[in-house]
Amino acid sequence: MKVLVVNCGSSSLKFQLIETDPQRIETGSEAVLAEGIVEKIGQAESTIRYSNHKGGTVKEKPVILEHSAAVEKVIYHLTHAKHGVIEKVEDIEAVGHRMVHGGEKFSASAVITPEVLAKIRECVPLAPLHNPPNILGYEVASQVLPNIPHVAVFDTAFHQSMPDHAYIYALPYSLYERFQIRRYGFHGSSHRYVTSRLEKLTQTPRAEMNIITVHLGNGCSMAAIAGGRSIDTSMGMTPLEGLVMGTRAGDIDPAIILFLMEAENLELDQANNLLNKHSGLLGLSGLGNDMRELELALDSGDDRARLAIDVFCYRIRKYIGAYVAALGHVHHIAFTAGIGENSVLVRRKCCENLQGLGIDFSHERNEALNRREGLISAEGSRVKVWVVPTNEELIIARDTMRCVLE
Ligand code: ADP
Repeated sequence: MKVLVVNCGSSSLKFQLIETDPQRIETGSEAVLAEGIVEKIGQAESTIRYSNHKGGTVKEKPVILEHSAAVEKVIYHLTHAKHGVIEKVEDIEAVGHRMVHGGEKFSASAVITPEVLAKIRECVPLAPLHNPPNILGYEVASQVLPNIPHVAVFDTAFHQSMPDHAYIYALPYSLYERFQIRRYGFHGSSHRYVTSRLEKLTQTPRAEMNIITVHLGNGCSMAAIAGGRSIDTSMGMTPLEGLVMGTRAGDIDPAIILFLMEAENLELDQANNLLNKHSGLLGLSGLGNDMRELELALDSGDDRARLAIDVFCYRIRKYIGAYVAALGHVHHIAFTAGIGENSVLVRRKCCENLQGLGIDFSHERNEALNRREGLISAEGSRVKVWVVPTNEELIIARDTMRCVLE
């Protein structure tokens, strides 16, 4: 089945056309036929990057004023006589949409019907910046591709298995009842993908494994996964809680923000920007949010880059300890996403000298692995540590296919 995976943001639209079906999943022969991104939608000059599995690439700077035009452009390239990968638009059999927040309403992916769409809209207050463009992506794609199923795949759904003691904040309980204030967690497709890869890599059913997944991209989150089910995760009601991220603070004393709002007369928007856009690696280092740049600065002796990386890694180590306690017994830890897949330094600083937790780290294996899947713990380590490159789009494509076949 050819599934178009769409991840729609406020001014961008990422896409992949993926060939998947149950047999292909079994034999590991799913294929990305084409992928790309339309950026700066609505601006004077948009950009589109497109590539197909045969090595064909296109880069254009067209004027794309609306998301519907972006979807049409994507279809144009997918069906193009030269660099296209399908003959006609009807070859696309379903569309999978990344939806950020499903609240408590969705613990699994769902075919989008008017009722489902209404429920997704009800989740907008929980993700006012993310859900509206995701919904817009569905609206325009379903106009361009009206006769096929569209499926919503939620970042939050995987974590709906958390027990109440992990998702409730110690605030007045009435706030949970009135506003659904609780931990939801995000990056669910990534944590799920890593779980499914570990199942394959270790030839062990997920029901028999306890795993800590460490997703370190621009956004960062960890999950404690018992028998394939998320029992805790570091992001909270919003993606701000937990680990230090590119520009987000992660855990801080909440009183700091009250203090600053008073001391600096901060408006809500300013406080929000401070925590989400000016903190994290960027705020600490004063240099940027890109781990590669920080590693280079560290090499040339920049002490604030050192501090940023130290705080980033120390937070992850603390969460590893916390999740060992939450799970009781851990079989695997897996690093994924941009930093987790690539940064030899970060993985080392997160995992060395943790023999007390059963983690015997291999510096040699760690240094040998770059953007590849494999083991970075030493032979005989009680807890095995892995690098598993993530693939959220594949999870979206698989869920879409399964929802359609059900
Ligand atoms: P997103 O959350 O936007 O999908 P990615 O998963 O692509 O983000 O991760 C982006 C992060 O990965 C950036 O901080 C980037 O610096 C980091 N990164 C990418 N390559 C490397 C590398 N070789 N070494 C260290 N960090 C890297």
